[in-house]
Amino acid sequence: MLAQRQPVIVLVEDESAQREVLSYNLEAEGFTVVPATSGDEALIVIREETPDLILLDWMLPGVSGIEVCRQIKARPETRGIPVVMISARSEELDRVRGLETGADDYVVKPYSVAELMARLRALLRRTRPAAMGEQLMFGDILLDAAEHRVYRAGKPISLGPTEFRLLSTLMEKPGRVWSRESLLDRVWGRDIYVDTRTVDVHIGRLRKALMREGGDDPVRTVRGAGYALG
Ligand code: CA
Repeated sequence: MLAQRQPVIVLVEDESAQREVLSYNLEAEGFTVVPATSGDEALIVIREETPDLILLDWMLPGVSGIEVCRQIKARPETRGIPVVMISARSEELDRVRGLETGADDYVVKPYSVAELMARLRALLRRTRPAAMGEQLMFGDILLDAAEHRVYRAGKPISLGPTEFRLLSTLMEKPGRVWSRESLLDRVWGRDIYVDTRTVDVHIGRLRKALMREGGDDPVRTVRGAGYALG
């Protein structure tokens, strides 16, 4: 049972051999890979998929990797997505750094695939802790993503799979207000048609389960917006 949707990585690389090697390794890590072969395609794909991380080649036909990165970091909806830039030469890398594109990390070709994977895992542990099998705490609630268990005030809480995914999504970003649509995308998946009222039903079940042994309701209903933790 997966704690959440596996992290989605948009891989922007125009050279097919590079793309294949990286796709293979990323999928072996358990990530979902969405490829893009140009800067223009990348900008469309990123808007549609809202990925968890973007692996971006600097040299691309048309819109360059730097420009793609600048646009990602300029839009509020995509600003928070970590971007790892790949460049062919260290001089290019210096330029990338000098341009302050807002990339979160940089890798120079030829790079060690093992090192690149380690860097991606480190970034994702910060931004998608539940999906990476980390333990999350919120107040007296402990969620162990690797063990797939939840405790409140030290007592085990029994949750259905959907309620578990809902809680892990909320616990990854306490205070963030999630719309019903964004919860549907994250918890049920983008390709499944589910009525937004289904979210309310499962939030109700989650609340009931969390309060069964006492304690306050940790889930806040934000009128007209959605739900948040705390
Ligand atoms: Ca390239």
